[in-house]
Amino acid sequence: MRSEAFGSDGMEGHRFDTGPSLLLFPDKYREAFAALGARLEDHVTIARVEPTAMRVHYAEDWSTLDLLYDAEAMRRQLEEVEPGAGKQYFRWLGEARASLDLGLKAFIEQDSTSALDFVDLQRVGPLALAVNPVLLLGPQTWQLATHFKTEKVKAMFSYQHLYVGLRPQNAPGVFSLLAATELTDGIWYPVGGFGTVRDGLQRLAEAHGVKTRLGTEVSAILVDESASAVEGSSGRQVQGVRLSSGEELKADVVVANPDLPYVYEELLKGQYAGVEEEAESMSNDLEYSCSMIEFCWALREPLPQLTQHNVFLGKDYEGSWDRPSTVADFRDRHSFNFYVHRPTYTDTSAAPAGEDNIMIELPIGNELERRAAAKKAGLSAVESDEELIEAAREAVIKQFESMGYGAPNGGGMKALIKGERVVTPSEWEQRYNVKHGAVFGLSHGLLQLACFRPPRQTGIDSLDAQKVDGLHFVGASTRPGNGVPLVMMGVAVAYDNIIAEQGVSPGSPPLTLEPMKSGDDVYVAAQAPAQAAASPKEAPPSKEPAPVAAAAEAGKEAPAPAAAAAEAGKEALPA
Ligand SMILES: Cc1cc2nc3c(=O)[nH]c(=O)nc-3n(C[C@H](O)[C@H](O)[C@H](O)COP(=O)(O)OP(=O)(O)OC[C@H]3O[C@@H](n4cnc5c(N)ncnc54)[C@H](O)[C@@H]3O)c2cc1C
Repeated sequence: MRSEAFGSDGMEGHRFDTGPSLLLFPDKYREAFAALGARLEDHVTIARVEPTAMRVHYAEDWSTLDLLYDAEAMRRQLEEVEPGAGKQYFRWLGEARASLDLGLKAFIEQDSTSALDFVDLQRVGPLALAVNPVLLLGPQTWQLATHFKTEKVKAMFSYQHLYVGLRPQNAPGVFSLLAATELTDGIWYPVGGFGTVRDGLQRLAEAHGVKTRLGTEVSAILVDESASAVEGSSGRQVQGVRLSSGEELKADVVVANPDLPYVYEELLKGQYAGVEEEAESMSNDLEYSCSMIEFCWALREPLPQLTQHNVFLGKDYEGSWDRPSTVADFRDRHSFNFYVHRPTYTDTSAAPAGEDNIMIELPIGNELERRAAAKKAGLSAVESDEELIEAAREAVIKQFESMGYGAPNGGGMKALIKGERVVTPSEWEQRYNVKHGAVFGLSHGLLQLACFRPPRQTGIDSLDAQKVDGLHFVGASTRPGNGVPLVMMGVAVAYDNIIAEQGVSPGSPPLTLEPMKSGDDVYVAAQAPAQAAASPKEAPPSKEPAPVAAAAEAGKEAPAPAAAAAEAGKEALPA
């Protein structure tokens, strides 16, 4: 959750959310704070973005449509564009909301570890009764076509793929749940930037005794092939982590948060037989999301045609989802989609008085796609980031100016921009260790959802990843998937799995910390105490009061995913 300020070359006083900018599923944030015994609103001021939740800018006819919470205003607006669409809107929203409520329960809030989950009536029955399963699992374009005729209206409820790196043609219909949460729960913004959420969680976790160490790179996760004491296990047991400095931190439980393909390829390399093959298959056989060029522009004057959240959709609705991967894609094709964040709509602290700023997220092909596109175009090598950025900048500016947006004196967009910082595709890969520069991690097509999402646990031995006792995964590339709320839901599931594996239950006596080799007290894992019921392990003597202990002493509810959340949510490397 990155809020960044770039203090030079016209950027002074401007703040950018270079990571998340849409706070969706606010209740999931509330739950994360509640797990630490606190109220979100006591630590972060969140504002619902209104009256317009999102503005859609269409290159087709240079018009706009607004995503409005006011159902009657929304109906009227849709009727004007497509007679009948207003009435259909309510039907579609009912189905989409059902996908949201029942889909979350069936597959996101609980882990899926068997292919049979898809036919488990207790699990999927309510969802299948509420929404036609063919329309849930088939491409979202089918579902939208049963309600709406014009591309323009369909696009209103499917642009959300910009945030997950899919496209309406290959995303399952269940993804309409994203539009449903925007329209019903609302799109929110943490005043002061997304960093306030991260900082709030970190402060609370530290108050519970969690120690965080920033700017500390892990170079390996250590595994012993024959050490596990967990009953019925494969015998493999995590031992702790090695830092780039060479220091080793011992732990019975490690929660790995970096991009999963990178964890397998780099951090688990050489740790157990077969891991290299698993990493290779993850790298080559799986689908990856898009990469991204991110422009952060400080503006001399306000750009009032933009609301806080904006999507710009290319003329060719279907083709514009093909990710630009070459310079020619920007210069010749002219049809692509992008998202623009203008935080001053709700939070004037993001820019100096009288000025403005925008952050543009422009999805492009990931490294594999850029390689394939270069080959197809007969280029001798993949074009450099600089060449691609140059072409992208020109194309985005042209799209803004075609809409009539720019300096009020007619000077166009360039006259409005006083400073620029670009987050390049290579920077995503190198700075955050995301495989193939795919910023949203592994893609979210049907074959990479639920139990099929790595590390695969379908119940079919030949398909499944090997298990290492004590090693747990969180983050965008593992289950349930990408987006801050989903990642936090995955953290809660990981916490439950750790508790079950270690043989303790929430409310049991305190978790304890393994003494570190270094004598340092950096906290990397929770560990079951000896007195816990049915604990499969001998617990070491406690050296430190642990987070759960601190909360229990304070008479608070057991802070369920606190330890894992604190570890998972923090920026481990310098931002
Ligand atoms: C540009 C962009 C915009 C987005 N917008 C939104 C949005 O508006 N709303 C939303 O909900 N979601 C949004 N997302 C998605 C959301 O940010 C991600 O899904 C979420 O942050 C993923 O969480 P994560 O824990 O998997 O990864 P991260 O948040 O990237 O955390 C992983 C951490 O691991 C660290 N790390 C990597 N390797 C090592 C190592 N070897 N040692 C130590 N630490 C390491 C990284 O530095 C990083 O801090 C956006 C994503 C991007 C890229």
